[in-house]
Amino acid sequence: MDPLLLISILPVIILLGYIYLKDKNEREPIGLLLKAFFSGTLVAVLILLWSFVEGIIGIHLTAFAENSAILKSFFQAAIPEEGLKLLFLYWLIWKNKEFNEHFDGIVYAVFVSMGFACIENILYVYGGGFETGVVRALLAVPGHFLFAVIMGYFFSRARFTPLNRGRLLLMAFVCPVLAHGLYDTLCFAMDMYGEATGLSSVLNVLFIAFDIKLWQIGLKAIRTHCHVCGAKIPKGEINCPCCKQLAENLE
Ligand SMILES: [Zn+2]
Repeated sequence: MDPLLLISILPVIILLGYIYLKDKNEREPIGLLLKAFFSGTLVAVLILLWSFVEGIIGIHLTAFAENSAILKSFFQAAIPEEGLKLLFLYWLIWKNKEFNEHFDGIVYAVFVSMGFACIENILYVYGGGFETGVVRALLAVPGHFLFAVIMGYFFSRARFTPLNRGRLLLMAFVCPVLAHGLYDTLCFAMDMYGEATGLSSVLNVLFIAFDIKLWQIGLKAIRTHCHVCGAKIPKGEINCPCCKQLAENLE
């Protein structure tokens, strides 16, 4: 297999396998998971098509964001990417009968997001080479995984908590956008201002600290909430205090 293709898709496969195997209580059907994955690839294709159309008609809607790390991160990446991922997740999963447990929202959100990340990663790695592939396997692809865990967590809370549905669905959009936007802002800021301002090392440290924090948030969403009902399970408990599900299913 072409090493560039391998390094592009290996992190995607590992993260998909991880989340699939974590869903111990009731595994999701492969057909629906594949649909979620391919709808994520469609998001990537739509965004590519859009920039192609913008090029042809000569109008760039987000041209104002080009020279600012923070505007570029939010308007050219986080908002369109997370927004479309959430739309496809909603269309495909919200009313599906297979979406019957809290953890399912996280699983399907990760499959959508990894579909997107897979296409994006192949394009970047073939453009930048093997070294780019290694860096992206450790940072960008897990980044898309973690944004999806955050999205899926609130998406499920919204689905199974009718009282606060509107607010929680908004959180399923805003929280991954904030995570993705800040993540990219730090990356772009290193490229755009790092050397000129002499702040490269400060931005590097900030980026690493932010990445560690994102991992902590993501793993907490996966490991400390009941996979069936979403309730927080206190440390040391054998069963979920809410639905009595065995807590060991989280490990
Ligand atoms: Zn429970």
